Amino acid sequence: MDRRLALVCGAGGFIGSHLVKRLKREGFWVRGVDLKYPEFSETEADDFIIGDLRDPYLCRDVVDRSFHEIYQLAADMGGAGFIFTGENDAEIMHNSATINLNILEAAYRRNCRRIFYSSSACIYPAYNQEDPDNPICVESSAYPAAPDSEYGWEKLFSERLYLSYQRNRGITVRIARYHNIFGPEGTYVGGREKAPAALCRKVAAAPPDGEIEIWGDGHQTRSFLYIDECIEGTIRLMRSDFTGPVNIGSEEMVTIGQLAKMIMQIAGKQLRIRYVPGPTGVRGRNSDNRLIREKLGWAPSQPLIAGLQITYDWINQRVGWKSNQLAYA
Ligand code: NAD
Repeated sequence: MDRRLALVCGAGGFIGSHLVKRLKREGFWVRGVDLKYPEFSETEADDFIIGDLRDPYLCRDVVDRSFHEIYQLAADMGGAGFIFTGENDAEIMHNSATINLNILEAAYRRNCRRIFYSSSACIYPAYNQEDPDNPICVESSAYPAAPDSEYGWEKLFSERLYLSYQRNRGITVRIARYHNIFGPEGTYVGGREKAPAALCRKVAAAPPDGEIEIWGDGHQTRSFLYIDECIEGTIRLMRSDFTGPVNIGSEEMVTIGQLAKMIMQIAGKQLRIRYVPGPTGVRGRNSDNRLIREKLGWAPSQPLIAGLQITYDWINQRVGWKSNQLAYA
């Protein structure tokens, strides 16, 4: 049988680099493409193209054969500090939409059979996420649309773009709405990091009697999914006969204050928490996994604390207070 071929767009990013590793373990020949190589470990891709997917000619060169599986993860994105300030809206809308238009057209022209698109929980209407104890994120609640960021609007536009190519041009698409993915080798500093990584960094770097800052009042709720679970859900969706869009997330909802306490418990530190104003996004968000359970029989296999432990250890090795002390001793 011919060797299976996969293309991962955004292979230098957090989820993309983990996905490449998984596809390599499965025996695929993998091409990665990104503006940059993965930050924290060498890529395992057989071929890695450094290039800008906003360029349609680059996309045509990248999709130079009939890949069995294409995963489109490239996007201009970041944590709350990047998405919710409003300062990066034009960049986010233009860059991500252009990437999706280009890569989908290139895949169609090369007769690729199957393409996965990573959408986001950020597409859900803000009006359903005002009560932190009872956010509504069931797939069917996406419309009437009212995402709270331009990042969410672009994702919604691109979901429709992919679905229209499936409808009119016969290309098979699979769409997941990811909910807060975290784990080792994810950004933990610089403004694009998400809450679990940012809190792990703050707790790790603080002296044992220190203090950490949290944006907002700590009562906003979220759920977080460990990277290995995300990859498993993604692969299962890709190879299923279900199009989606479908949530890939965890239903273990916690407040940001509780998340900070879990991380302190892992670290064995009792730190003071100072709540400061900052961009926080919606008041509440949680994955609703009924549809994915029904269609794919999938749910996360581990509790939040298990993934947090691994992530904390990884970040602590880099910025931990003790290791700082040793480094400066
Ligand atoms: P990431 O930022 O680590 O990865 C995205 C990658 O896309 C980056 O490496 C970036 O360099 C690359 N990229 C951006 N513009 C590009 C361009 N013009 N040409 C080529 N490459 C370009 O993000 P991630 O966490 O790995 O997320 C992957 C996908 O999943 C994104 O589409 C994101 O919107 C979506 N998603 C992620 C989460 C999450 O919690 N991580 C949640 C919801 C949705």
